[in-house]
Amino acid sequence: MSGTGIRAGLSSAEAAARFDADGPNAVAVVKPRRLAGRVGRQLADPLVALLLAAAVVTTLLGDLPDTAIIALVVVVNTVIGVVQEVRADAAIAALDDLAAPTARVVRDGTDRIVPAASLVRDDLVRLEAGDVVPADLELTVAQRAAFDESALTGESVPVHRAAGEPAGSGTVLTAGRAAGIVTRTGAASSLGRIAELVTHTKPGPTPLQRRIAALGRALGLAAVAVSAVVFALGVLAGQPVARMAITAVSLVVAAVPESLPAVVTLALALGARRMARTRAIPRRLHAVETLGSVTVIAADKTGTLTENRMAVQKTVTAGGGRYTITGTGYAPAGTVTPPAGPDDQLRLLALGGLLCNDANLVAPVGDGEWGAAGDPMEAALVAFAGRCGLDPATERAKAPRVAERPFDHTTLRMSTVHRLDTGDHLIVAKGAPEAMLDADADAELVGAAHELAADGLRVLAIATAVADRPDTTAPLRPAGLVGIGDPLRAAAPATAAAFERSGVRLLLITGDHPATAAAIGTQLGILGPGDRVARGDDGPLTDQEVAHARVYARTQPERKLDIVAALQQRGEVVAMTGDGVNDAPALRRADIGVAMGGGTEVARQAAELVLVDDNLATVADAIGEGRRIYDNIRRFLRYALSGGIAELLVMLAGPLLGMPLALLPGQLLWINLLTHGVPGVALGAEPAEADVRRRPPRSPQESVLGDGLLASVLAGGLAVATVVLAAGVLAHQAGRPWQSVMFVTLGLAQLGVALAVRAKAAPGTPRNWSLPAAVALSGVLQIAGVLTEPLRLLLGTEPLTGIELLGCALIAVLPGLALRLLRHGRA
Ligand code: ADP
Ligand code: MG
Repeated sequence: MSGTGIRAGLSSAEAAARFDADGPNAVAVVKPRRLAGRVGRQLADPLVALLLAAAVVTTLLGDLPDTAIIALVVVVNTVIGVVQEVRADAAIAALDDLAAPTARVVRDGTDRIVPAASLVRDDLVRLEAGDVVPADLELTVAQRAAFDESALTGESVPVHRAAGEPAGSGTVLTAGRAAGIVTRTGAASSLGRIAELVTHTKPGPTPLQRRIAALGRALGLAAVAVSAVVFALGVLAGQPVARMAITAVSLVVAAVPESLPAVVTLALALGARRMARTRAIPRRLHAVETLGSVTVIAADKTGTLTENRMAVQKTVTAGGGRYTITGTGYAPAGTVTPPAGPDDQLRLLALGGLLCNDANLVAPVGDGEWGAAGDPMEAALVAFAGRCGLDPATERAKAPRVAERPFDHTTLRMSTVHRLDTGDHLIVAKGAPEAMLDADADAELVGAAHELAADGLRVLAIATAVADRPDTTAPLRPAGLVGIGDPLRAAAPATAAAFERSGVRLLLITGDHPATAAAIGTQLGILGPGDRVARGDDGPLTDQEVAHARVYARTQPERKLDIVAALQQRGEVVAMTGDGVNDAPALRRADIGVAMGGGTEVARQAAELVLVDDNLATVADAIGEGRRIYDNIRRFLRYALSGGIAELLVMLAGPLLGMPLALLPGQLLWINLLTHGVPGVALGAEPAEADVRRRPPRSPQESVLGDGLLASVLAGGLAVATVVLAAGVLAHQAGRPWQSVMFVTLGLAQLGVALAVRAKAAPGTPRNWSLPAAVALSGVLQIAGVLTEPLRLLLGTEPLTGIELLGCALIAVLPGLALRLLRHGRA
């Protein structure tokens, strides 16, 4: 590779050619499923296998109608199953794309952000702190570059690497800057080779999916047991064995909601896609379901609740001068009141803040605003210097930096040394007041710092000294204080109140001083007059603190892990926000790690949810969506299980009431088709209940059938069975076709239940028209089953009069009506 090639990177044509030759830079390539495979898996379902066996029997018996209807059921079920699976997979794939890792690569001589999967050998990749190394690299640039290689070696102490050394894919640049040439990609990379050993590619089913699968198996067994009894009763009553066998099989198929797992997966996947549209991207389906039970959200103050647009608002100089600063955004122009005049101390303060600083202002393009490059707080200091009449570029050029100590979260300060044109050295430090000031010697400034903090401002003390040597340990004299404001987002108090209403406790975590944190907590409305602020630098958290604290001040990112762990210890389901390298462990540990879209790659990859707009209000929306999805899954269960129970009860009780075979196998399968198919799927699209944001989170330990659902399913099943049997008995006594009456009543009653379990949405919410439409279609097909000649032949039904049909319909609405009227609480 030539020298210029290294600097300019590959051309896009070259990169495309290599990509075609070598394939994507992905550890495991997931092959898209083929249609035949999908169909095959649907047919491999035990219920379908049972049906196919029954079809063989009906064919041998020459029972053409039943063979036809079994074939119809198999085809329709397979189509619905495959369509749901394809939709779910498409939604998941779209999410994977949104959440896919990216890399900064030089192509055609310019920097680009591309999906990490598109990297090829010899690409030039740039890394900043917080980036995950996207492929194996040979470093060409390494400036104080430290890598966390724990993903490869398990060793978590960062390792310094120099230019010429390798950096393995999956490791994290925790500090410094680096660039490198890609040497190996995909499965050939260090991470790829490990991944082949551990094979951790596809995430397994979520806890809810697992619980639903277990529930499905239990239901299947129960249905088989009841059907065996129905079979025995029929045979004892003199029915032919083969007919009873087919009836028993049809009953199992009808009673078990075979679409349950597909409905759950689709509900989660579509919910995830809907969240992504509101700018909260779930990285796993698991997140969608966990969001519904979050009890605590621990949020960084800066950025999520504030605008992260900092500005120096007040300053106090060492001589006691007090100034108020105004200006727009990061613009270096603004006013100082009272006018500074020739206050040398203010000038020194502004100069110190400008020099001990790694940020820059970005001039506006067109009508735009001034921007900040680097730490927004430091950019605010640059703008402040401008407002005090200093020209940032000129002043920095006059005093070049010759030594520095970067900001350190444990000492809470940063210092730099500058060479002056006199030959002397100017030493500047800035940091938290308690790290910079002496309680006795600087008593006045310490008092002023408390006043500024109580206004909700972040306070920095700046100190300077002139020395003949570049010595960072020289004794410094305070120049004064700056109070930096970062306004709360206008909607933040409303967001806090929204969490409060939904029973989710909002905690504020910040590195700021307790007084600043308390002021912000009060503005947010989460801190009451007597409430204490917990301190992150005060030794271990007490149980008392963890139970009650709403605001944690002076908290380092590393400390967040302890907070999450302590909360989880108390049984809380914790969502935690973060964006930096040091936040990754806490994000991973939290039940829902929430990463900022603008944060580091390592934080995004550790998180379950990525907030594109960095706005906490979006999490409140996602929690509501998680609850809605869970409600809809329970809604489907309520509907499908009560229908299944009703079918079993009707078939069991029929013989006891003088109706030996309450329904024929074809009739059972027809009802199964009409009720489980389209209306079931439509329930998954129900809107949120009006109170979804105003009720406490559900306990993650609660069974899916908990909170009264099981009782309501049983009651619903009993109610439907009762009206169906009553209709049958009446018809029987009147010498009318009782079987057809029961057939119509059972189908319509189940559709009535589907309407009854509809969401009670807030007024103004768009209605889910697919449900009434599906119910209407199924209802028409149900009635057509007795009215049209071909269907009568197929189903073995007899014609009913209009009055009789009306009677069936009137009696069939009763269970749904009762459920709707008696329904209280949630879905
Ligand atoms: P947060 O997590 O709330 O952003 P930080 O941990 O970044 O808080 O900062 C904690 C404290 O350290 C700040 O209140 C400030 O006093 C000090 N500080 C932060 N950044 C710098 C910096 N670049 N230089 C000097 N001091 C800083
Ligand atoms: Mg910070």
